[in-house]
Amino acid sequence: KVRVRYAPSPTGFLHIGNAQSALFNYLFARHFNGTMVLRIEDTDTKRNVQSGEDSQRENLHWLGIDWDEGPNKPNPKYAPYRQSERNAQGIYHKYIQELLDKGIAYKDYTTEEELQEMRERQRANKEAPHYDGRWYGRSEEEQKAAEAKGLKPTIRFHFPKDHEYQWDDIARGHVSFNSDNLGGDFIIEKSDGMPTYNFAVVVDDHTMDITHVLRGADHISNTPKQMAIYEALGWEHPVFCHIPLIFNPKTRKKLSKRDKDTLQFINEYKKHGYLPEAIFNFIAFLGWSPKGEREIYSKDELIKVYDPERMSKAPAYFDQKKLDWMNAQYIKQMDVDELADRTMELVKEGETEEAQRLQSIPEDELRELLKKTIHVHQRDVNKLLEVIEYAWSYYSVLDEHFNYDQIVDNEDFAKEDVLAVLNGLKDKLVNGGDDLDYSQAIKEVGKETGVKGRNLYFPLNLAFTGSTSAPQIYEIMDIYSRKTDVELLDRMIT
Ligand code: GLU
Repeated sequence: KVRVRYAPSPTGFLHIGNAQSALFNYLFARHFNGTMVLRIEDTDTKRNVQSGEDSQRENLHWLGIDWDEGPNKPNPKYAPYRQSERNAQGIYHKYIQELLDKGIAYKDYTTEEELQEMRERQRANKEAPHYDGRWYGRSEEEQKAAEAKGLKPTIRFHFPKDHEYQWDDIARGHVSFNSDNLGGDFIIEKSDGMPTYNFAVVVDDHTMDITHVLRGADHISNTPKQMAIYEALGWEHPVFCHIPLIFNPKTRKKLSKRDKDTLQFINEYKKHGYLPEAIFNFIAFLGWSPKGEREIYSKDELIKVYDPERMSKAPAYFDQKKLDWMNAQYIKQMDVDELADRTMELVKEGETEEAQRLQSIPEDELRELLKKTIHVHQRDVNKLLEVIEYAWSYYSVLDEHFNYDQIVDNEDFAKEDVLAVLNGLKDKLVNGGDDLDYSQAIKEVGKETGVKGRNLYFPLNLAFTGSTSAPQIYEIMDIYSRKTDVELLDRMIT
């Protein structure tokens, strides 16, 4: 029975790289009818942030990723799910003690200054940095003497010499590391009594019966250390899959939180009005793809077609254009009412100036405005924030001060033509009945005045949007009241 886990450290908001790990574990669990576990790896207390865990959870929910076991859904057989709580129950220490008793782990009293010296000497000798094993096999007396000086030990794991650690990685194929190249004996318990990541992760994956570990490829050099611990404790290791890292196409390096020009946190996508369905689809294609050319897949379809054998080995380049394109596809497919609901949510969040301004409109009226705006722009926006911008521009069009004359002059239009068009349409609006068809009315104005093409539409675009390029202008006219339409034409005429 498949059991996988997503194991975030609550050190900040959900980053796209973590979301990618969560998502592939989720697809794996759901595809194989397995169990998805959420485990909180909070042993690095200095890096934890307040509400880091909550924000992870909220953002996962938003993305449509859920789990079967976790801090909020404990299975008594495996609980607790936070490493700090597991540590308090002595779960790790029990195995640390076992390794100490076996002589595979030992106490290391090297001070920070001594470690610094060691590193500098190695650098000077052009050696790869490694712990030199100086406390391995020391006597009890020496340990006592160090204790008497008030030194607090770390506990290190002793590597066997020239030992090969190898595994068949789902994404990478055969991988192998030699114990002599892994930086020397490594710390499994810090001097504050907290286990290190490499140790806690092994104990947890084993005691939680995890069958497959899918995680970022940045962990690949940790895996041999973890395998050494599995071996020392006489446990079988799970199957590993190291998910390709996400690269920034500009720097051609791993996407970094410092790359300010790229949206990388899931809450930022949300704030910009990306749809979670689109983000899910987009992330699923970072490091994996199904057979064929098709790129738009719903979550259920992805679960069905997910095939771990198709996980890629090469880095996944983050392509903002593709993300926008994908989001646009989801917007096009979605029901107008649903989009209006989601845009309303975004207005309530008030992240942009336009959103905040729209908040002053009574809810029913705002909903109507958003629906009309979506009706016009569903086919040309990439994200819902653009709907908000358009809605605000339509709502506030009468407050804007366009300088029509200047624009018209620059474009070299005959003033008589412009006036004939504007007056012609105004006439129809004033005298037409409630069922006046705006598209038809504009066509008639064209015929009656003999003004065609851009000369006909340009002044109207300008009148109704303040911009010379606009989508179907008769739909935009429909966003305003008839009275406002007339006022907008009047402003151009006088
Ligand atoms: N807490 C680790 C991280 O956030 C988990 C790595 C793993 O899945 O083993 O990177």
